[in-house]
Amino acid sequence: MKKRYLFFTLAIFGLVFFAGRLLIFSAETSENVNAPGHEAQAEVTDREVLIEIESGMTFSTVAENAGIGGTLMMNILEATEDVYDLTKIRAGKSIAFYFDRETEQFKKMIYEVNSESELYVEQSDEGLTAEVKEIDYEIRIKTVEGTIDSSLYQSALDQNIDIRAIIELADVFAWTIDFGMGIREGDTYKFIYEERYRDGEYVMPGKIIAALFNNDGEIKEGYYFKEGIDEYGDEIDGYYDLSGQSLQKMFLKNPVDFKYISSGFTTGQRYVEAFNVSTGHRAIDYAAAIGTPIRAVGDGVVTGAGWNSHGYGNLTSIRHNGVYSSNYAHQSKIYVKVGQHVKQGEIIGAVGSTGFSTGPHLHFEIVKNGTKINPLTLDLPADKSIAEDNLENFLAGIDNWRKQLHAGE
Ligand SMILES: [Zn+2]
Repeated sequence: MKKRYLFFTLAIFGLVFFAGRLLIFSAETSENVNAPGHEAQAEVTDREVLIEIESGMTFSTVAENAGIGGTLMMNILEATEDVYDLTKIRAGKSIAFYFDRETEQFKKMIYEVNSESELYVEQSDEGLTAEVKEIDYEIRIKTVEGTIDSSLYQSALDQNIDIRAIIELADVFAWTIDFGMGIREGDTYKFIYEERYRDGEYVMPGKIIAALFNNDGEIKEGYYFKEGIDEYGDEIDGYYDLSGQSLQKMFLKNPVDFKYISSGFTTGQRYVEAFNVSTGHRAIDYAAAIGTPIRAVGDGVVTGAGWNSHGYGNLTSIRHNGVYSSNYAHQSKIYVKVGQHVKQGEIIGAVGSTGFSTGPHLHFEIVKNGTKINPLTLDLPADKSIAEDNLENFLAGIDNWRKQLHAGE
């Protein structure tokens, strides 16, 4: 229906400005005014050819399918050379080409590079110009809340919350809440986030602005704050609690991404065995399917990566600093090498059942000064906090969000 309204609006403009052309115009544009996600108004008179990229397709095949000849194709490649590498186009995406309806001249090409930006190649009098532009979404603010019966994931499904928003929420609290073992029935959450729209249609969730999680009676809060720009031009931003302490810590709570262990689990049941000194099992076992990605819980250097003959199977060890290291056992695949530097959250291997193992799981250990300690009780200080000068600014900025989160308590 929206497309029709758009069409009528355009038709009316057409009537006023190009009365003579209206009939031809309406007959031609009704089948495909514009592809979803692409700007509509300006290109009404252009003919659009949308090519879905299939696996194995290169840019030249895509261009060929769009009816673009070799010379123009080479010119497009040349024009984009310094802004985007068109050999990186991915299957499952599409490229939109626009041609003048009368002259059949190439006018424009748009490729969605990622959720944040698009590549534009445009024909002007001076020739072809290429530019990667940030996608300008319309932002709407949404507040959602829920109660957990079995898992955060299930609760999101039950309440029709976009799963991608819930994954973001889990990321906000990835250092403070253990979404596997630490979740209790009756835990509640509420969060305020941005929704991204294009041409009036919902595309995806944007960033979370403020979030509250009641975990077993303990209230955790997180607020987004941008402190500034660093020397490399990157944003200094993150999530902070009410005292301005970063929610980020030296270690993630889970080496297995929330979305893999959460789906379908009921509290605790997917864990084979927890940390138990009396049985000698000084580790946490995360049951997950073979192939599930394993993440480094903290920055560090790989000190071991390979077969262990004492039952650990494929084992990776990471030294985080002079005090802490972590071990990941029974993997089906190891993606890192000894000596390699890894970042927190980086995928280092895949869950398996190698060595002495009764089923697919990750056996995860944290070692402190040579002794295996319980990762679940490990509480590390915050990564950083908001600079003193910015604290007042931060508190003033979150005031409204904070009130909204606590409204109705
Ligand atoms: Zn184990």
